[in-house]
Amino acid sequence: MSRVIHDNNISVETALLHAGYRHDPITKAVAVPIYQTTAYELDGDLSRIADIYNVKNDGFTYTRIINPTTRILEQRYAVIDGAVDALAVASGQAATFIALVNLCSGRPGDNIVVSKYLYGNSWNLLFNTFKRLGVEARSADPREPSSFEQQADNRTIAFFGEIFSNPCLIPLPLRELSDIGRRLGIPIVVDNTTTPLVCHPAKLGASITTYSATKYICGHGTTLGGLMTDNGTFDFDDSVRFPLFNGPDEAHGGILWREAVKQLDDLSRSPCLLKARMTWLRDTGAAISPFSSFQLIQGLETLHLRMQRHCENAVIVADFLQRHPKVRSVSYPGLFTGQDREITDELVDVHVGYGAMIMFELDSEAAGRTFIQNIKLMYHVSNVGDVRTLVTHPVSTTHTSVPKTQREAAGIFDGSIRLCIGIENVNDVIEDIKRGLDAV
Ligand code: PLP
Repeated sequence: MSRVIHDNNISVETALLHAGYRHDPITKAVAVPIYQTTAYELDGDLSRIADIYNVKNDGFTYTRIINPTTRILEQRYAVIDGAVDALAVASGQAATFIALVNLCSGRPGDNIVVSKYLYGNSWNLLFNTFKRLGVEARSADPREPSSFEQQADNRTIAFFGEIFSNPCLIPLPLRELSDIGRRLGIPIVVDNTTTPLVCHPAKLGASITTYSATKYICGHGTTLGGLMTDNGTFDFDDSVRFPLFNGPDEAHGGILWREAVKQLDDLSRSPCLLKARMTWLRDTGAAISPFSSFQLIQGLETLHLRMQRHCENAVIVADFLQRHPKVRSVSYPGLFTGQDREITDELVDVHVGYGAMIMFELDSEAAGRTFIQNIKLMYHVSNVGDVRTLVTHPVSTTHTSVPKTQREAAGIFDGSIRLCIGIENVNDVIEDIKRGLDAV
């Protein structure tokens, strides 16, 4: 591709449109082409082709591992996120899984210290699936950052949390956790799904950031995808914690990842993502389709305009809810006070806003159900980050099977309602919320 921009100094709004691609080299097509191909012809010098397979040269081999459309998405998103490189995968869950499993040693003792406030399926991934794979998740409280340190040992491979937890919006004290992590030699992996562009975790010390691109990045509720970015700030040079970064990796013919990147050009910026791509992505098959990558590239082009509008609308809705007599309480980062406010001020770019997720409390489960049954405009779906306003009553849907004590400890009560404010005219959204509340 000619005149590819990798410059991390261009503004985010410009990078969303220009980074990583100018035009197709053959046809000069301005829109990113969809390379809907599984494989790439292995023509030319066979020793050069062997070098590609042996990670001694860049090149396209098979779409489960690398694809030109997806690679443009990755390069573009790396610039947007202020990272050295990115890896796109099939979904947000795949991004979280691969980001964390990639750091494991495969020996008993690996553990991850995890914020107790997490998106439900990430909680399951950590506390059930990883456990079955022999990796222990240890719960810590982001409101007590020292609890992360107390839970850590010399086999802790990461601290993990969400920037604003879904659905309770507990802010992650990222700067403080990064300081603790740096002192102990532990990387911070964060899920920034609820706030792309609102928060840049790289600037606050996160080592790796994951995204469900299914949400705001796609924006239109049409496409599953996940992204992980390496912020290039963590060396993984502790051979007790990260033996597979410091010795031969049998999963790829005894390769030394930090040496392998030195022979590459395109994939040279991140030994961590090279390892993830060439082993975990290759072996799990959690690849994104080229068409989905194209859809996500389309989504990126307008992400800053949409995020701005999502956030502007959310502030107005949160303010309305806070003053409504039937609403017990509202949780929205723009309304936080005290310690949560201090953390939030560090996390967010106020020029964009505070995100679009709001949690509010009604008096009872029945009140929550009545609210949902009387709205007409908003969609009752368990998704996040659509252009349309979405609403969920967790107790009736995502959390029906979670025991009450466990659910309440995670901040989800009988009358909790989660809103993800869209980009409609906000007056219409408020009218719909009024309709629901009037019926309660
Ligand atoms: N992380 C967060 C915070 C989410 O809200 C979600 C989905 O709702 C995911 C990860 C998983 O994303 P996906 O549905 O793309 O697998």
